[in-house]
Amino acid sequence: MGLAHALAAAKRGLKVVVFERNLYAVGASIRNFGMIWPVGQPAGILYERALRAREIWTEVAPQAGIALDPCGSLHLAYRADEMDVLQEFVETQGRDSVRLLDAAEAAEKSPAVVTKGLLGALWSEQ
Ligand SMILES: Cc1cc2nc3c(=O)[nH]c(=O)nc-3n(C[C@H](O)[C@H](O)[C@H](O)COP(=O)(O)OP(=O)(O)OC[C@H]3O[C@@H](n4cnc5c(N)ncnc54)[C@H](O)[C@@H]3O)c2cc1C
Repeated sequence: MGLAHALAAAKRGLKVVVFERNLYAVGASIRNFGMIWPVGQPAGILYERALRAREIWTEVAPQAGIALDPCGSLHLAYRADEMDVLQEFVETQGRDSVRLLDAAEAAEKSPAVVTKGLLGALWSEQ
């Protein structure tokens, strides 16, 4: 958050100084799983903000030497009620970037998919 504010201020032409208590980054931002994952946000301002954050990461990461792999994400459903939730999500959220896959399509997306008992998956290209 600190660096995001510093970047936004610098882009507006302000002079910025960042104070960091540690010698190098050891906070949440260096320990997280590295997922840039807007689909997890509810529709509305939080989703719009997540998309904007994704844009910023896409711009900043190559400049900072941070690897980016826009591989999309999968939610796998092995039970009928899980599949119902994915179906409802696709029908109610109205997002072009998500769609339901059958088990074979999901397996094509990733070799890590366990296909035994798999009913389908939610695919997000973001
Ligand atoms: C295990 C884990 C996995 C996660 N996975 C994801 C993920 O996949 N995708 C995702 O989007 N989010 C993920 N998150 C959440 C995300 O990492 C955090 O929400 C985000 O990094 C928080 O950023 P921050 O700048 O608020 O905090 P930090 O990154 O912790 O930065 C705060 C900084 O302030 C410094 N500081 C604190 N007090 C002072 C002080 N008094 N003076 C000077 N400096 C100070 C700290 O040293 C630190 O460097 C994950 C979090 C964790 C812990």
